[in-house]
Formats: sequence, C-alpha cells, structure tokens
Amino acid sequence: MSIIKKTAAELGELIASGEASAVEVTQAHLDRIAAVDDSVKAFVHVDPDVALAQARAVDDRKAAGETLGPLAGVPIAHKDVFTTSDMPTTCSSKILEGWRPPYDATITQRLREAGLVILGKTNMDEFAMGSSTENSAFGPTHNPWDLNKIPGGSSGGSSAAVAAYEAPFATGTDTGGSIRQPAAVTGLVGMKPTYGGSSRYGVIAFASSLDTPGPLARTVLDAALLHEAFSGHDPMDSTSIDQPVPAVVEAARRADVAGLRVGVVKEFGGGEGYQPGVLARFHEAVELLESLGAKVVEVSCPHFTYALPAYYLIAPSECSSNLARFDGMRYGLRVGDDGTRSAEEVMALTRAEGFGDEVKRRIMLGTYALSSGYYDAYYGKAQQVRTLITRDFDAAFEQVDVLISPTTPTTAFPIGERADDPMAMYLADLCTIPSNLAGNAAISVPCGLADEDSLPVGLQIMAPVLADDRVYRVGAAVEQALQDRWGGPLLAKAPAL
Ligand code: GLN
Repeated sequence: MSIIKKTAAELGELIASGEASAVEVTQAHLDRIAAVDDSVKAFVHVDPDVALAQARAVDDRKAAGETLGPLAGVPIAHKDVFTTSDMPTTCSSKILEGWRPPYDATITQRLREAGLVILGKTNMDEFAMGSSTENSAFGPTHNPWDLNKIPGGSSGGSSAAVAAYEAPFATGTDTGGSIRQPAAVTGLVGMKPTYGGSSRYGVIAFASSLDTPGPLARTVLDAALLHEAFSGHDPMDSTSIDQPVPAVVEAARRADVAGLRVGVVKEFGGGEGYQPGVLARFHEAVELLESLGAKVVEVSCPHFTYALPAYYLIAPSECSSNLARFDGMRYGLRVGDDGTRSAEEVMALTRAEGFGDEVKRRIMLGTYALSSGYYDAYYGKAQQVRTLITRDFDAAFEQVDVLISPTTPTTAFPIGERADDPMAMYLADLCTIPSNLAGNAAISVPCGLADEDSLPVGLQIMAPVLADDRVYRVGAAVEQALQDRWGGPLLAKAPAL
C-alpha cells in the first residue's frame, strides 16, 4: 500500500523500525499535496522546506540513537487557528494577513515535542465561524468525496486534507461542532475532548468558554494517539484541567461495548431537517451496538432543543469581546493610515475591510446581546439555558454510560447552497452544540453512506466530562464492527481524486 494510505500509527511504526525515513514519508505527503490540493484547497500555507527540515531533524535524532515517541516523523496538517512561530497564522481572515506569530501555541509546541512534522496550515471558516469553510477569506475548501460539496467547517481544511490523503491526521478546534461535523461529512473520526482537556494557549479565540482543540483522523486509534500527544495540563491556560489525561489510546485499543449502557437522545431522533439516509445509518448503528452487547435505551434531554439558540447568543457574545483586539494597531492589516486620519477612523476602516460578513454579523449580534438593558434578556437567559442543558446531561449519565445521536442532520451539502441562509447553516450543528455548552467529551465516527447521495454519515458518541476514554472505546468498537462489514475503511469507498 502506498505511504499516503497508511494510518499515522502505521507510519510511526515504519519510521521507528527504520523501514521508512521521516523525510521519505513527509515527501510522499508533500507530493500528494502538490498533486491534489489545487482542486481540494485544504491548505492555506504549505512550506516544503520547513516540513522537510523538521523531518530531517527526526531522522537525525533517530540516527543518533535517541528513543523517539510513537508519532515521531509522522506528518500532520495543522489548522490555521493555532499560532506557529515558523509559519503564518491567519485564521483565514484578511485582518491577519501578513502577521507572523511571535510564539507557538502550546499544542503546536507539543506536536513538535512529539516529533510530528507540520506540513502546513489548513483552511477554515474565518475565526472558526461557520460549518462549511465557505467563510474563509481565501475561498472555500472542497470535499474530496465530491468536489462540489462542502467539507464541513470550521475545520474543513483539516478534514479535507485527511480525507484526501494529504496528511494522515490533523488538528481542529470545536466550539459548536467544528471538529465533529467536518469529520462526519468527510467520513473521518473527529473528537472534541472535555473542555479544558486540551490547551487553548495560542489558539486564536472565538468563544473562550467553548473553544476546544481536538484531533481529526482516519481511524479511532490515530485520533487517540494525537489526542494523547497534545493534551494535558497547561499552566498557560487558566481553564486547563490539572488532572491526568484519560487513557484514550488504551481505550481505542480495547474497543468493546459489552455491558455498556447506551442512551439514544430522543430529541435528536429525527423529524424536520433530518435526511432519511442519515437516520437509516444511525438506526443501523443503534442495532449494531445492541448486537455487540450494549444495552440501548431511549433517553430524553428536553432542553437540548434550546441548545442552538442559546449557543447563538453565547458564542457571538464572547466573540464580540474576543475580536475587539483586532483593531488595526496590533496585528496584520491596517487600512487608511495615511497621516490624515484618527486612530478611530483607521480602526473602523481596518475592521470594515478586514472582517468578512459572518464575522461582522456575529460581532453585531454579540454586542447587542451584551448591551445594557438586553444583557439579562439575552445573554443571561442563554446562560441559564446552558445550566439546564448541563443538568440534562447529568441526569442522563445517571442512567447510561454514553449518549448517541447522528452527528449532523444531513450529509455534505453543495457549496453555495446555504451561503446566504445563516439559519440553515447554523442547523448543521444542531446535535453537536449541547456537548460544547456542557463541556463534555464527544466523538464522531463514520457509520456508512446515505442512500440518497452516497456521502458519509457520522455517529456521535457523548460521554461525561473527563470520560474521554469511554467515547474512544465505543467508537473503536463501532469502527471495528463496521470495517468487518464493509471489508475495510469507509474512506476506501470515496471516488479517487
Ligand atoms: N458552526 C458553528 C459556528 O459557526 C460552530 C463553529 C465551531 O465549532 N468553531 O459557530
């Protein structure tokens, strides 16, 4: 099998055993990028020299007799929301064009410590606001399953890169679904760790109480290996959890559900907006879990219905505050600074030109929701709903070990279809948002292709805070059983690029 088709775990072994060098593996992925990224457009920045230098350093350390970790020399695609001291960081926004971060995000630094080779930075919705990667100042990314479809968002560059074999795995961030939803619509595994389990230091902030970095990969084990490599306490992030990382790799290897209690979320069981093909694959996954020995029951989480409206007050409120720092004075773009204008005028011109429409919409919504006289009615109310959602999870997890639902109501939609309809776009995250509001762990694993369009469907598995290992265990069991049924990974069914 060609190098690019191998999993990260396999590549790590090949490099460790000396059967392949890190340079060879990196070059194979750079060649793939050169061959297909003109049509996929997953990356906003690729630097072959920087990547090969990292790979050479791993090969040199190995030659010097150093013992390296399981991912040393393995290439990775890195979402452009993470700061990188040796590559630009734009968040796919014009306002950060030309900015070079003076430091690495903690996660970037941990990728380097693990010996991972950063191939480049991936496209995303501007400041991670969106579900399709169409809100990028650099143009949309295309879904490798069908280039006319969206790859999900906001981590759509990462999902497309991995699904197109341009990288074995990638980083993402999930504020309302931006790892799980792109994973679902491209046939990948995407994991949102427990909030605070992965560091936000150097992750350009969207909504700080929700933003959660996590992995996108082609297998559950690869996601777990990456999760383990970059997680753990970070004193540079005040919300980072000072506890051991759950044993996610061990759980991914264990892959069993016998005796586990699984709750099907009643509120996400179908109805308007759900594609029949998505529901059909979801129901089959429920039966599969039963056949593997899980005890499946239906569980009601009545407040999940209000998660979407609560999120669209909380996330914009936090973003309106976080994005105030982009004022044309400190970073990147500055417009109209010709000596005749005041600082206020330069700020206004810079923000008008530097931010895209969706970002402006969120800043306005959030500023309104936080303004005096409206705060209690909007932001305050949304925070109360957030508490009710957390209580729904608490009550549910007294009855069951994990909750499941479809990851997204539909498969990948055509590029352009929802671009002018923000409400339709927001619905893509209907099922993923509750876990962001409550901060618990949730994963999406492929569960088949919808009959209508032969596009991938995702199964979402949710577990309590700090029970990240549990979703890997269940996800890996589902993956194993379905791959036996399909005779290989789902991605093998994707049309060749
Ligand atoms: N699609 C959601 C939004 O636009 C979630 C984005 C995310 O998780 N970063 O806010």
